[in-house]
Amino acid sequence: MSDHATAPVRVRFAPSPTGALHIGGVRTALYNYLLARQTGGTFILRIEDTDQNRFVPGAEEYIYEALDWCGIPPDEGVREGGPYGPYRQSERKHLYGAYAQQLLDSGHAYYAFDTAEELEEMRERLTKEGVPNPQYNYVTRMYMKNSLVLPETEVKERLERGDAYVIRLKIPRKEEIKFHDLIRGWVVFQSANLDDKVLMKSDGMPTYHLANVVDDYLMKITHVIRGEEWLPSAPLHYLLYKCLGWLDVMPKFAHLPLILKPDGNGKLSKRDGDKLGFAVFPLAFTDPETGSVTSGFRESGYLSEALINFLAFLGWNPGTQQELFSLEELVQAFSVERIGKSGVKFDIAKARWYNQQYLHQRASEDLVQFLEQDLVRHGISATQAQMVEAIEIVKEKVNFPTDFWAEAEVLFIAPRHFDQALMEQKWSAELEVVLASFKTALQGLETIDATTAQQLFGASAEGAGLKPGKVALGTRLALTGKGAGPDLWRLISFVGPAQVAKRIDHALEWAKARLPRVG
Ligand code: GLU
Repeated sequence: MSDHATAPVRVRFAPSPTGALHIGGVRTALYNYLLARQTGGTFILRIEDTDQNRFVPGAEEYIYEALDWCGIPPDEGVREGGPYGPYRQSERKHLYGAYAQQLLDSGHAYYAFDTAEELEEMRERLTKEGVPNPQYNYVTRMYMKNSLVLPETEVKERLERGDAYVIRLKIPRKEEIKFHDLIRGWVVFQSANLDDKVLMKSDGMPTYHLANVVDDYLMKITHVIRGEEWLPSAPLHYLLYKCLGWLDVMPKFAHLPLILKPDGNGKLSKRDGDKLGFAVFPLAFTDPETGSVTSGFRESGYLSEALINFLAFLGWNPGTQQELFSLEELVQAFSVERIGKSGVKFDIAKARWYNQQYLHQRASEDLVQFLEQDLVRHGISATQAQMVEAIEIVKEKVNFPTDFWAEAEVLFIAPRHFDQALMEQKWSAELEVVLASFKTALQGLETIDATTAQQLFGASAEGAGLKPGKVALGTRLALTGKGAGPDLWRLISFVGPAQVAKRIDHALEWAKARLPRVG
């Protein structure tokens, strides 16, 4: 258990509904969830939708569906409600103005009336002068149209007239900003490197920064656990807490390491997934505007437990050799102290490994669903017991639920095609004798278990003076048409004596017609 977090935490996952939720976002949600569960705290979902231009319909529903599928639903949120709602920032619009006003009144913020053209001009001028990173800051603000420069009467006039304005934070000229991060230790920034960030936009909406800080304060958030990409914003957030007089209740910060491309070269993006053929989103998503579909872990056949276990290890480790953790075990073992600082490579092979582990661990009864749909599709009716048995037979060979049918098809459908090249290699007159004798041995049997099948087959082979191993592959080809597949004896038991006999006849006929006569 974490030293910092034995008291019940209030943590939040605060995505912007701008499309499919990146896998890094799911990891952020997961770590927040784990800390909440571990401390008996509260996990909050806050939808940060103040940027109307980036809003994508369906994205909020997607976020909920992803959290539900992963088994990490929030305690408070848009759907759940709770004492600190509303939980969608666009519905909290009326709340933020008062805090912007407080900052204006205390001299920590100011009105800026600059037009887009004037801002562009400023940037161009500074670039010409050789300033590498032109910013609206403690120097440049003195040359712009804002309430720090314009006469008070003009500011008043402009406001009364309804001129468009934004509210900017007046970043102190020279201040060392130092705060503690639970993962990175003490982090230091110089205020001189920061720009006077916009807090309220001309449309009356707060920016991410103001809304995020105000909501964390109002929702009594104790820990902010989020991706490293937000670390550069953290000094600004620190200043907002300070200027609003909230430093004593400022949440503890924990900035999670970046998730890197498989080769470690930069941040993992959707493009990497497309290029390398794997999903970087939990669920598939269809962009309502472009109609383009992004693939998802769920649709690629991953079990949510496997994805969660994989994600837990993308940045955290338990400090032991144990790799398989149920969600409940993760809740017990998780600690912020064991989250690393450096970026972690996204290793899809590891994700596949987890999936395989979880599939094999699952009770066959729970896997029937993955076979059932394909049976229905092929118009095959099978009892629950038959499906469970089929799953048992193929389970070891399967990495994805989508593989079940591919492996189990030979159990349900007699071969229509035979592997010609292999048949030519493996078929022989001796094999024909063994198959005929095996067929005779099966006659009159209603059912057969795998052990008996193996014994009878062995006897048939030996009767023809052959080692059973020598004709096993040929027999597999005869019964399935393929050179590889489920355990042959279990297959024979599953298919049953009568059907096996039919399959043998079919193979013999096929060989007669399609193979050069063997002597
Ligand atoms: N809305 C931000 C995002 O989309 C939230 C960042 C934070 O957690 O502060 O990730």
